[in-house]
Amino acid sequence: MPASSPNDRPMPTHVKPMLALPGALPREADRFGFEYKWDGTRALAYVSRGSLRLESRNLNDVTVSYPELMPLAAAFERWSAVLDGEIVALDEDGRPSFNILQHRMGVVSPDAAARLAREIDLVYMLFDIIYLDGRLVTGRPYTERRELLEGLGLNGETWHTPASYPGEGEAMLSSAREAGLEGVVAKVLTSRYSPGKRTGEWIKVRLRSGQEFVVGGWEPEKETAAKAVGSLLMGYHEKAGDDRLVFAGRVGTGYTDRDRSDLREALERISRADSPFTGEVGRRDTRFVDPVLIAEVEYHGWTGEHHLRQASFKGLRGDKPASEVLLEEPTG
Ligand code: AMP
Repeated sequence: MPASSPNDRPMPTHVKPMLALPGALPREADRFGFEYKWDGTRALAYVSRGSLRLESRNLNDVTVSYPELMPLAAAFERWSAVLDGEIVALDEDGRPSFNILQHRMGVVSPDAAARLAREIDLVYMLFDIIYLDGRLVTGRPYTERRELLEGLGLNGETWHTPASYPGEGEAMLSSAREAGLEGVVAKVLTSRYSPGKRTGEWIKVRLRSGQEFVVGGWEPEKETAAKAVGSLLMGYHEKAGDDRLVFAGRVGTGYTDRDRSDLREALERISRADSPFTGEVGRRDTRFVDPVLIAEVEYHGWTGEHHLRQASFKGLRGDKPASEVLLEEPTG
């Protein structure tokens, strides 16, 4: 039997996306390619001979939620590829909005997905390639993978290949600020694609502090009779797999009216009598919940008591298990 050549590898069926470490703009900017950081949900696309499957960060099949991305498959009538990118919802000003995207995530009915696709615009921002037509390219350097990706010219109505700018960290960060984006991702030009790993070769540089927290409880709004959610109690795990949460503070702003009532419904389904936090955190009106929901939160530093300062809710996300939510930056 002839040894299989690198050009006839079968298409991988599940690849865990490579992850980024939080950090500052790297000093040796020339070693990095800089991309915008899109505030959406990660998705890997498996395209093969006219069909498309989308998988989330935790390897769930999310294809049905995004029907407007189906035509991407037509670009691959004769070949197959695995692409990496971020699905982003746009607000009326064309700016990425995680809050709006929440209404598109987790939709499992094709009818509901089709209706939502007419109401909420989204774009799949493609930034990497893992496999192309018999070649697994994870071992190739970032620059080569980018060339390959850009060579495909994948720019349609609902998908786009935004450029990467080598050495341009400062300029990219200031244009991200002007455009109201989350920040940039710096990627070592020579780095390979390491599935499922946070190697430090991808660095996410955020303009505003933010990360995911686990919801451990809530307190109702004081003013309204309906008693929608007033604030959420956030926590994180000291280490992955820990049962209990370290309290990170209350988050009372950033919600739309719809969020406040939707959240109440979701939280009531997971209510429990005892606190999931390690220390005392409750007030008289605090209600505790099973620590299974993940919320994206933006904040401005930490108080002396290690609680989030000026924290604002951005949305719920379901693309990884809550048990993996850890603190990303020291609390000061
Ligand atoms: P965070 O969600 O803050 O932990 O940031 C990491 C996430 O940013 C990644 O897992 C991706 O979903 C997302 N992301 C957005 N834009 C990019 C990009 N250009 N390159 C890599 N990841 C990106």
